[in-house]
Amino acid sequence: MGTTTEPAEPSEPAASRPPAARPPSSLSPSRASDFMQCPLLYRFRVIDKLPEKPSPAATRGTVVHSVLERLFDVPAGERTAALARSLVTPEWERLLAARPELAELFPDHGDSASGGDGGEQTAGERLAQWLQGAEALVERWFSLEDPTRLEPAERELYVETTLDSGLVLRGYVDRLDVAPTGELRVVDYKTGKAPRPEFAAEALFQMKFYALVLWRLRGTVPRRLQLVYLGSGDVVTYDPGEHDLRSTERKLLALWDAIRRATETGDWRPRPGRLCDWCDHQQFCPEFGGTPPVYPLPVPAPRAVPVDQAR
Ligand code: SF4
Repeated sequence: MGTTTEPAEPSEPAASRPPAARPPSSLSPSRASDFMQCPLLYRFRVIDKLPEKPSPAATRGTVVHSVLERLFDVPAGERTAALARSLVTPEWERLLAARPELAELFPDHGDSASGGDGGEQTAGERLAQWLQGAEALVERWFSLEDPTRLEPAERELYVETTLDSGLVLRGYVDRLDVAPTGELRVVDYKTGKAPRPEFAAEALFQMKFYALVLWRLRGTVPRRLQLVYLGSGDVVTYDPGEHDLRSTERKLLALWDAIRRATETGDWRPRPGRLCDWCDHQQFCPEFGGTPPVYPLPVPAPRAVPVDQAR
């Protein structure tokens, strides 16, 4: 569960103070998707910046993404599944060194007492199982793509562009392949399973977001968008046209208008749905009997109602 952020004492060193709340100034695919699914969740994440617990699934996703990125550091012929698997533990250790709070994913409940006799798993056993899961995901990738035949132009590419309206779009593209003809292929790895058809548009929306940014940056509509689902072993592709990306731009502008209105009025509505099961902020959510923290941005004072109208 998240916790409220206490206001900083004046004598506190600047580095330890929580960042001051600011109105949002740009949009990424994940935050756009947050707002579409639940405006209040967007507020908690972007404006209140409430802390969230690390999750084993998301952390495993980070490790797997790092392995798939690093594998391209070696010459094509050496990019084997065995090498990829061997990178999983070092990548986890590197991540843990950078973010020591991730150790709480595998708490030690007194291993010597509980493990080894068919009882609860020890922390070491849980970690080993989790790493095996990451190795299996990495290995599955080799049945979907052949890294010995790929030379990505970019990996973990930060992209950012400002639309004519002033809206700044930004995000990270997992992999960008450029054909000798100059055609672009945008690739995104997902460690989960491919969504059911009714939710496929959501994942494609993120890819069209990246395609729009790349189109604006490079002047070329990417030829192909490719989602690689390591959880289920599926590859989903889509070849966008200019009309798709113009319609994505219109959708993002409408979304940004709605975000701006909510920012100015402080009116962020909860929208309960399937995301609630994973939401770290239920304790602050009215749908679950909670109260959001005091809104940290200025909102217009309520208009005075003339006495004769108030009756
Ligand atoms: S619990 Fe559900 S409705 Fe409430 S903020 Fe989280 S996602 Fe939104």
